[in-house]
Amino acid sequence: MEGLAQTNDLTEVIEADRAHMWHHLSQHKQYETVDPRIIVEGRGMRVWDAAGKEYLDAVSGGVWTVNVGYGRESIANAVRDQLIKMNYFAHSAGSIPASLFSKRLISKMPGLSRVYYSNSGSEANEKVFKMVRQISHRHHGGRKGKILFRERDYHGTTITALATSGQPQRAEQYGPLTPGFVMVPHCLEYRKQWDVANYGERAADAIEDVILREGPDTIGALCLEPVTAGGGVIVPPEGYWARVQEICRKYDILLHIDEVVCGLGRTGTWFGYQNFGVQPDFVTMAKGVASGYAAISCTVTTEAVFEMFKDAPDDPLSYFRDISTFGGCTAGPVAALENMRIIENEGLLDNTLKMGARVLDNLRALQEKHPVIGDVRGKGLFCGAELVADRTTKEPADEKRVAAVVADVMAQGVIIGMTNRSIPGFNNTLCLSPALIARPDDIDQITDAIDGALTRVFG
Ligand code: PLP
Repeated sequence: MEGLAQTNDLTEVIEADRAHMWHHLSQHKQYETVDPRIIVEGRGMRVWDAAGKEYLDAVSGGVWTVNVGYGRESIANAVRDQLIKMNYFAHSAGSIPASLFSKRLISKMPGLSRVYYSNSGSEANEKVFKMVRQISHRHHGGRKGKILFRERDYHGTTITALATSGQPQRAEQYGPLTPGFVMVPHCLEYRKQWDVANYGERAADAIEDVILREGPDTIGALCLEPVTAGGGVIVPPEGYWARVQEICRKYDILLHIDEVVCGLGRTGTWFGYQNFGVQPDFVTMAKGVASGYAAISCTVTTEAVFEMFKDAPDDPLSYFRDISTFGGCTAGPVAALENMRIIENEGLLDNTLKMGARVLDNLRALQEKHPVIGDVRGKGLFCGAELVADRTTKEPADEKRVAAVVADVMAQGVIIGMTNRSIPGFNNTLCLSPALIARPDDIDQITDAIDGALTRVFG
């Protein structure tokens, strides 16, 4: 594989990048002194940059996406064949891949039955917000349109999705945001807000407090990540989800679970919520649905919700008046079908559980050695290590030093992530989300690199 990257004239590529590219989440001033990193090739869990340097990717394409790994010819071939046959038609008509993928997807999601296609996680979430608002107008006189979201969660980048951001820096300077979204407290037990034994139930009760304050009849939905991703890899404590479900049922509030990171397979089950025995009314997904081989997102809901848009055929406003042009691309569902087949045929859910346990074991061993690791947490191949300046006070480690750990790991040829410039004072968690194909040696290489970096940066 060595030298693969050098087959093109990359000088031209880098010049074009410097002259014309505007990278995501990047301060471009840095490129006055260093070259932008250009990733040119990927195989399995490894990628190569333009300079030919090899990396073990422990973040699945940077943002929890390439779940089945790079270079999957069977996905590329399925997409190629489908594109030649029929690439696109607006989704007011059906398509063979969308029907077949919907059926397969729903077979893994008991209690849900309808799939609405769009292009990104933000958009999939916006579809829910629109459905909830329309249900409020049609069935509750417009009064039940507020949507709750949770501190430290993230649901996307559009102005409305930012209104649901529990990571304040994401939304700063982009206001005014869409009104009608209300925040509930986070549930991270390591940073306790209540001194009680049944922390999970108490954290869920805090949602009920907000509902009562706002007025239960004004709230249409509660939107939560099953395991909070960019907000610090937060696995809700025991008892949390059961109580959340109870509260939603008590006040007739639709439960929307944002599986954009956890679906498909990231936590060792098809969806994150399936770890917790909870039954959602809406599930949204994007990144891992087709492992980044095509752009696709899905908003999945129940027959009961679907029926609410069918009950007044003579009312010109009664149906869901929404379209995403590229929701009609066939590449997405065809790639997603093959992605699901790979996960099943290669036993990747099982592998995720085994390798996830290894990540946590290795991180806990590092915690013994490095006092800077305050907390280790995760579910499946979705793990984090929170770094603190002092284990007793839990004062977060300095963000620049956390970033220095990530940079040191990168210099060793391993790519990891961190909670990045989203929660003031709390951008202190190292994030690991390797592809679901990871082997024991890969996991050990990742945690060995972190070990070395922590020694160099924190002593
Ligand atoms: N929801 C969650 C939990 C996410 O982590 C993200 C992106 O990171 C999104 C939604 C938004 O997805 P997209 O970037 O595809 O719009």
